[in-house]
Amino acid sequence: MSRYRLEPTAAQADALLRQCADARYVWNLCVEQEACWRAGRGRMPGFAERCRQLTQARADNPWLAEGSVIVQQQAIKDHAQAMTRFFAGTHRRPRWRKQGKDEGFRIVAIGPQDVRRLNRNRGEVKVPKVGWVRFRWSRAVPEDAKSFRVTRDRAGRWHVAFAAIPDPVPGPGTGQVVGIDRGVAVSAALSTGEMLSVPGLGTREAARLRKLERKLARAGRGSNRRADAKAKVARLKARETARRKDWAEKASTDLARRFDVIRVEALDIKDMTRSARGTADAPGRNVAAKAGLNREISKSGWGLLVRRIEDKAPGRVEKVPPAYTSQRCSACGHVARESRASQALFRCVACGNACNADVNAARNIAAGHAVKARGGHATRQPANREPQPTLLPA
Ligand SMILES: [Zn+2]
Repeated sequence: MSRYRLEPTAAQADALLRQCADARYVWNLCVEQEACWRAGRGRMPGFAERCRQLTQARADNPWLAEGSVIVQQQAIKDHAQAMTRFFAGTHRRPRWRKQGKDEGFRIVAIGPQDVRRLNRNRGEVKVPKVGWVRFRWSRAVPEDAKSFRVTRDRAGRWHVAFAAIPDPVPGPGTGQVVGIDRGVAVSAALSTGEMLSVPGLGTREAARLRKLERKLARAGRGSNRRADAKAKVARLKARETARRKDWAEKASTDLARRFDVIRVEALDIKDMTRSARGTADAPGRNVAAKAGLNREISKSGWGLLVRRIEDKAPGRVEKVPPAYTSQRCSACGHVARESRASQALFRCVACGNACNADVNAARNIAAGHAVKARGGHATRQPANREPQPTLLPA
């Protein structure tokens, strides 16, 4: 993904917001349809069926027909993709999208004629129903981009991101294997002993964020103070997200270049981040502690990192069963819960081998055997939404 700052005029921004509203409306209809489904009611409508429903809805509602059909169909498609990921166990169930928070839409089937450079620092992209919108040409635009996504962050800034399938990064060809353990304190530990950590906010930035959040909590509803604090919080959070994405890009390229086989645990992120709240009848335990852990896991950008490695090193990522990777000694193979001396330290009770607990786990993962069943993504295609010519208007 290459992301650029979009600079729409005021009129264009209104038109873009309208497209966001359309996409959100269609997405939320899909979420509602899923929520209403009960066993015995037959199959959930698939992508094609929903597109037929959309055509019908556009015929009945002129205001919907005014919007771009590509934007609306892509919202259905994005939702279908989200459901696939949910069923695969890697993502949470798609949720209701809110105004002001989840603003964005996707345009597909674009070609070189839809992007042009104006001068050194500016380019233009053609957005259906909006026209040519300027953006900051901060780096080369991928020539083979097939689609782009327009988003508005909570601070009100617009971006355009072009999706091109990244060229595979060649491995060293030496048969080098690396294991990566996803940690919470450290984002990832390599079997080589290296530690990777996601650059989040600095200490001063984090302190500033806390202060702003307190200010936000105290400010009266609808006040200028509140709007001001809200915008500042949004900017800081956007900065954090940008750093995480940038890190995932660099780290995935580096790993794909240095190692021929990259082994990770076949973890079920859905299980790890599932809400601990439980139900009214059976409330969950350690709710606060788990919520904290969930935040850290999502923050660590693990899912993003693995996805990007799979894109850049297709067929070279192996998923290893996670059993005992944290209790097993990577030197002698002895498995004992007592060897995990602390969160950070592993000291084998059999051979005395002592090392960082995450590195020990990463070494076990490097030595592990690939899962054939669900983790087998060896031939997985990148999850970019490819245009489906049969479903797009001519
Ligand atoms: Zn040992």
